[in-house]
Amino acid sequence: MLVLGHTGITLGVATALDAILSKTSFLRAYSASPASSSPVDSLPTVPSGKTRTSWFGSLAHHIDIRILLVGSLLPDIIDKPVGHFLFRDVFANGRIFCHTLLFLLVISLAGIFLYRRSRKNWLLVLAFGTFTHLIFDRMWLTPRTLFWPLYGWAFPRGDPNPIHWLSGVLAALLADPSTYIPEVIGAAILGIFLWQLIKASAVGSFIRRGKVE
Ligand SMILES: [Zn+2]
Repeated sequence: MLVLGHTGITLGVATALDAILSKTSFLRAYSASPASSSPVDSLPTVPSGKTRTSWFGSLAHHIDIRILLVGSLLPDIIDKPVGHFLFRDVFANGRIFCHTLLFLLVISLAGIFLYRRSRKNWLLVLAFGTFTHLIFDRMWLTPRTLFWPLYGWAFPRGDPNPIHWLSGVLAALLADPSTYIPEVIGAAILGIFLWQLIKASAVGSFIRRGKVE
């Protein structure tokens, strides 16, 4: 999967999860309200007088979507330059350390530690983005990388010429449905998100502060 697939589908998954979790906590709050009061009176209210917020707005209330988008690409942001360019002779592979379960574990534990210590969730958001990245890359097909270093210290080697790698990616994008369909889905989700930002005149505030409404 490439950039649009990783970012767009991760945003879609996080938005859906947030909607499900918000609905669950809403129902829990509703069912826990006193039986004597009227159902309408006991409905939890939305803060600051707003009666309704968009799905992306609800997600942005809980996490920084900018961090989520970076997290969805984090393994590639680190591994591609290192494996394909900086240490090409050593690795010749764009899926190395940050495409491993070990990296996910370390970043998740660090995220839990940070959250428990200071209630900051940005590292957990990065870990979630890394988690979806490894799934969308179907890393279970290369267990030597996913479970590194269980099968040995060396990563599988690919074509040492990065131009060949880039042309392979381009060819897959044009001809392979398992590559271009996720890109189309991701682009559609990002398009809806961008449209919501434009409608709310929030493009600038999203870039500067992560606000979407
Ligand atoms: Zn990747």
